[in-house]
Amino acid sequence: MQVFSVLPSASMASVAKFFTSFHVPLLLRPGYYPSFALLHSSSSRFAREDLDRTKDGYADVNWDELGFNVVQTDYMYVMRSPQDGKFTSGELNPYGEITLSPSSGVLNYGQGLFEGLKAYRKGDGNGFMLFRPEENALRMQKGAERMCMPSPSVEQFVHAVKQTVVANKRWVPPPGKGSLYIRPLLMGSGPVLGLAPSPEYTFLVVAVPVGRYFKYCSGTLNLLISDEYHRATPGGTGGIKTISNYGPVLKAQVQAKSKGFADVLFLDSVNKKYLEEAASCNIFIVKGNIISTPATYGTILPGITRKSIIEIARDQGYQVEEKLVSMDEVIDADEIFCTGTAVVLTPVDTITYCGQRFQYNTGIQTVSHRLYNTLAAIQMGNVEDTRGWRLEIED
Ligand SMILES: *Cc1c(COP(=O)(O)O)cnc(C)c1O
Repeated sequence: MQVFSVLPSASMASVAKFFTSFHVPLLLRPGYYPSFALLHSSSSRFAREDLDRTKDGYADVNWDELGFNVVQTDYMYVMRSPQDGKFTSGELNPYGEITLSPSSGVLNYGQGLFEGLKAYRKGDGNGFMLFRPEENALRMQKGAERMCMPSPSVEQFVHAVKQTVVANKRWVPPPGKGSLYIRPLLMGSGPVLGLAPSPEYTFLVVAVPVGRYFKYCSGTLNLLISDEYHRATPGGTGGIKTISNYGPVLKAQVQAKSKGFADVLFLDSVNKKYLEEAASCNIFIVKGNIISTPATYGTILPGITRKSIIEIARDQGYQVEEKLVSMDEVIDADEIFCTGTAVVLTPVDTITYCGQRFQYNTGIQTVSHRLYNTLAAIQMGNVEDTRGWRLEIED
């Protein structure tokens, strides 16, 4: 109570000191305290009761009806940075709510990054595969540099991801039914008042079983080009996976969905005529033997799926161009497809721009279909991994 009488006249420094001395040790260091500080007991109870519902090594899930929704799994990985900013070691905790100072950098100033990658169950049922997890680790490092955050090393990142998969293995869907989506988060968890980098950071990894990202039946992926909102600006943060890029696109996405579109596509914010990407996936256009995708000059997220598809397409003899892609070329394309960890490679049926709807080729005769088959086979372990893209995890 004393706090409230002190606060109005207190300097910034004493406010910061108050939070540092009082809130931080109690609320922000579950790794150093019994895990009750981190968890609501109800959620850990849930996990334990749920363990009883395991059949043949699988959680009690209807694997045929997986979408892309929050499912509470058993464990999450937690690693905290001490004051000098270097991450040392983390640990698995039961999945549950985390306690965060109301003054944390992530809540007040959006100092946070996320990643997304998938684990597939191997066809023979023994172990799991990750797709290029080091790339996610490196991308998180780049983003952390831009957001003034320390980041886990590649080894720490990959170790955390592997531990999270193994701890939640009963949630990895059977082969062919989906994957375990892994969501690493890096955030400024320490308290700040004046705008500044957070004094402390938390790296978390959670995992969720997923099926399809877009709820669509084949033949209905319709996208709307936003003529009102933009996702990124030159010099901004469009090229990193900072959490602060996603809240601002919700309005465009909600509006597009309310008109029956699956998602929204953004144009560049300077000329308003070059295609950039969707809210959470990259975009490619196909014209004859030429495949083009917007070049990543800082306003487009450099997708790992995008990079992989560029390599696969070149190996298959297509001419791949990373360049400015104008709306004229979009209108004139034979095929359009999106790429991303969540959507893998999804063909686009129509694009609506300034009230006009343009239709594209889809189906098994397309370039998109051929590229999808190659990528999916590598990710799911159905072909030899000649490029060293798969990381196998022992059961
Ligand atoms: C994550 C993301 C992508 C896709 O990246 P992948 O590494 O292929 O998953 C594309 N665009 C945006 C805006 C993203 O956030």
